[in-house]
Amino acid sequence: MSINQKKLPIYSFFKCVEKNFDKASQFLDYDKGILKQIKICNAVYQIFFPIKWDNEIKVIEAYRVQHSQHKLPCKGGIRFSPTVNQDEVIALAALMTYKCAIVNIPFGGSKGGIKIDPRIPDEFKEKLIRRYTSELIKKNFIGAGIDVPAPDYGTGEQEMSWILDTFISLNPGDINALACVTGKPISQGGVRGRKEATGLGVFYGIREICNLKKEMNNLGLEVGLEGKRVIIQGLGNVGYHTAKFLYESGAIIIALAEREGAIYNPKGFNIEEVMNHLKENKSILNFVGAKNIKNTLEALEIECDILIPAALENVINSENAQRIKAKIIAEAANGPLTIEADEILNKKGTLIIPDIYLNAGGVTVSYFEWLKNISHVRHGRMERRFNEIKNFKIFQSIEKISGKKISEYEKNILLHSPDEIDLVYSGLEDTMRNSFYELLYIKKYKNIENLRIAAFALAIQKIYNSYQILGIFP
Ligand code: NAD
Repeated sequence: MSINQKKLPIYSFFKCVEKNFDKASQFLDYDKGILKQIKICNAVYQIFFPIKWDNEIKVIEAYRVQHSQHKLPCKGGIRFSPTVNQDEVIALAALMTYKCAIVNIPFGGSKGGIKIDPRIPDEFKEKLIRRYTSELIKKNFIGAGIDVPAPDYGTGEQEMSWILDTFISLNPGDINALACVTGKPISQGGVRGRKEATGLGVFYGIREICNLKKEMNNLGLEVGLEGKRVIIQGLGNVGYHTAKFLYESGAIIIALAEREGAIYNPKGFNIEEVMNHLKENKSILNFVGAKNIKNTLEALEIECDILIPAALENVINSENAQRIKAKIIAEAANGPLTIEADEILNKKGTLIIPDIYLNAGGVTVSYFEWLKNISHVRHGRMERRFNEIKNFKIFQSIEKISGKKISEYEKNILLHSPDEIDLVYSGLEDTMRNSFYELLYIKKYKNIENLRIAAFALAIQKIYNSYQILGIFP
């Protein structure tokens, strides 16, 4: 039984998103018609196609949903999961619309899903994703200015390469073809830093909140990340990178939960050692010095400072919310809390950092990749050498005027001119910080009870303003 089938929520995933939207709208004195247009899902493409699988023909169910086209292209990942369904993909596309608005990315929101277990052999994955891409091309649901997929649960660089290759071969001469998909390997037009972007963004967001004295005092916690006890569910792209950056900043990863079970050690895990163990044994269980937890969901209920769900939606629901002891829940996954769980935990005083802000690092760096692809030049290529020479001349002058020698260490820092990776990290950190303070501002200014509703209000405000600027609603 999958995690999101375990306890069926009262409301569907999309209904939860709509309910949060409605709560946030109450803080904004906006035209009801425009709000309806922002909330509604613009386009749903459901596809069924046959794939030859061993000696059998399997009919595959897949989706691409464009929730909002108020800005183009639409943007959103593609997931491989056996539980993919229309409601889920619509909800995830809607979250993309709000996420892009919160972090000031000029895209509409979309999402794709293929109903299949991501652990199928590569050969079938390639067949599926190529066929899926050609279906999207037929209906004009993909392209640099139309709709740009990216990785999500169960997909990564390899799948994005197959999408690109299929798109290029069916669109000869399209000069912007590279920008039809993001999350590509560097050799295929990807941008440095995209792989870790979502996890790094999650880390930046958690760091910002942990640096707030008042918030930490309220929770009975010290300021900063050092020594914070963390539990992470899902050690995939997002979970692993989040764990890595937190571990490097002195947080203690006390439990890790995967499909097969969880491991617990109050002294903390070295995340690279766990990853090596996982690669060798195809399981995180039986890690040296750790206690195995058979029922993986139980790991979420261990006492900790920060709980980070980084797998799938609905994992914290009305059934287990009351037993969650974490002081902070950082939503690295999309929709990990049902609306009922959200209400229970808010009443308990848990600080919840919402998905539509916290995991926006992925789409932010996807935006940088898309910019690189449509501008056909690597970030930093034009100015890097110029800056190095200018800096060299500056410190030569300083040495001459002061009569003192600058140390080799300081020289290296001064001489360094940003590479693509420096620019991407800087752009991501700046984005996550700025949006965080915008969030805090709207929460305080509108007297909104929690960060999730503040995040929805911020998104609605920005989209509403953009509709007015476009003159769609005279
Ligand atoms: P992934 O496929 O790389 O990793 C998911 C991990 O969760 C896998 O290791 C899988 O084994 C594990 N998992 C599956 N079922 C589990 C269970 N029952 N208990 C514990 N672990 C389980 O996926 P990802 O890209 O890391 O995405 C994870 C979440 O983050 C999803 O909700 C996704 O929508 C969201 N997200 C991803 C990105 C991105 O850039 N990849 C961006 C924003 C949000």
